[in-house]
Amino acid sequence: MARAYNFCAGPAALPEEVLFQAQEEIANWHGVGCSVMEMSHRSDEFVSIADEATQDFKDLLAIGDDYEVLFVQGGASSQFSMVPLNLLSDKTTADYVNTGQWSKKAISEAKRYCDVNVVASSEAENFTTVPDFDQWALSKDAAYLHYTPNETIGGVEFDFIPNVDAPLVADYSSSILSEPLDVSKFGLIYAGAQKNIGPAGLTIVIVRKDLLGKAKDFTPTMFDYQVHAKAGSMNNTPPTYAWYLSGLVFKWLKRQGGLKEMAEINKRKADKLYGYIDQSDFYSNPVDPRYRSRMNVPFVLADDQLDSKFLQKAEEARLLNLAGHRSVGGMRASIYNAVPERAVDALIDFMKAFEKDYA
Ligand SMILES: *Cc1c(COP(=O)(O)O)cnc(C)c1O
Repeated sequence: MARAYNFCAGPAALPEEVLFQAQEEIANWHGVGCSVMEMSHRSDEFVSIADEATQDFKDLLAIGDDYEVLFVQGGASSQFSMVPLNLLSDKTTADYVNTGQWSKKAISEAKRYCDVNVVASSEAENFTTVPDFDQWALSKDAAYLHYTPNETIGGVEFDFIPNVDAPLVADYSSSILSEPLDVSKFGLIYAGAQKNIGPAGLTIVIVRKDLLGKAKDFTPTMFDYQVHAKAGSMNNTPPTYAWYLSGLVFKWLKRQGGLKEMAEINKRKADKLYGYIDQSDFYSNPVDPRYRSRMNVPFVLADDQLDSKFLQKAEEARLLNLAGHRSVGGMRASIYNAVPERAVDALIDFMKAFEKDYA
């Protein structure tokens, strides 16, 4: 059977071209006689794969030499602890913005290590918006400010980069590489790979070099950014296959024309889907239109009794993984870079047909 369109929030769709290339190379990479999975991470071959992937990632985001790019494990969730452990230094307070489920998790983990000042929260609005920046109650002496530019579950995305004095830390797990980004505005950016980069098991950290080397004494070795930076992310065995596959994705992104081109495609995809939802009485999206995510589009049906029917029919139409997050229900279409525009068209066609049959 042909491949389906996959709207999973993560692990998410990968570019088909990349999968076929990996298939071709899987058993015998470039004639060396073994798979990338079977290579020593210290071999010249793997080091060349890793270096090229890292350089392509830096090229895509135009990352300056004053930043380290680390390829680590433990998911974005481990960053919830690594950030305070490494960046608090001698400070005792960190600022956090609470815009949804992932912000909340980052906040609760940071509370183990410092006084968390929640500078603003949209919890009272059920996480359907971003608090106005001029209302944020910033601390005088925060070690950093942490926020979540794209809330994967609520489908809420910032349309601005906060301008604060403290180093800016962002969980870009679900929107990195979706558009050009001025990395120089940030102290640290992290992203789990399984949404908009590559396979699960890899997390990328971009950290300004002057923030390294200040980890708390009790920081586990593998949680210290400096250790990873000094070892070229090979203090221990890195997730080699995920690193390689992500490298293929970076090459694919370059072939598409880079992040400016991806931004245009992503905007067009999101505009189409929200446009259809908004003109329909049958589907709705609760998010403040200014802050709707270009990557994750949650929507509900007028009658939630039809949810399971919708999901069943969608699967029959080869549209996979449209169920909303288990904590919120409803539907969610994640339309990352690797989800082609024709997948969004197919989803809208399906939604129209379903509305006609069941409204
Ligand atoms: C998925 C996600 C996480 C958690 O990532 P893991 O790699 O599973 O730990 C954290 N933050 C955001 C914004 C996410 O989308």
